[in-house]
Amino acid sequence: MLCRTHKESQANAICCACGAGICNECDPIEASGKLACCNNCAEIIKKESKAIDEILKKNRFGIAFMIGFLVISGIGFLSVGLLGFALSPKAFFANIFASCFGVLFVLFGVFVYKKNKSAA
Ligand SMILES: [Zn+2]
Ligand SMILES: [Zn+2]
Repeated sequence: MLCRTHKESQANAICCACGAGICNECDPIEASGKLACCNNCAEIIKKESKAIDEILKKNRFGIAFMIGFLVISGIGFLSVGLLGFALSPKAFFANIFASCFGVLFVLFGVFVYKKNKSAA
């Protein structure tokens, strides 16, 4: 592949935005850790990585929301189950079910939290 600017030179890199060849004589611009052949391409790369960052941020918020939901509803189920043992002991299996469900929810919330933490 030949350089787009210096038609005689072999390209040793590629612009991440337009795919143009970049050679040693070129002065490539670095944008968000990627190479760009010109300012326009650098802008495109910057915009793209900004958009990806934004999506990741939103995802992080979604995961935090899910963990909160799991833990809060888990505690809710657990307290309904435990209260049930005191208030309506006849509904033994329903109370056990609610308690187990609550514990599972909380454990799942902790699991998602830990998994997300190690991934980040
Ligand atoms: Zn380019
Ligand atoms: Zn060049």
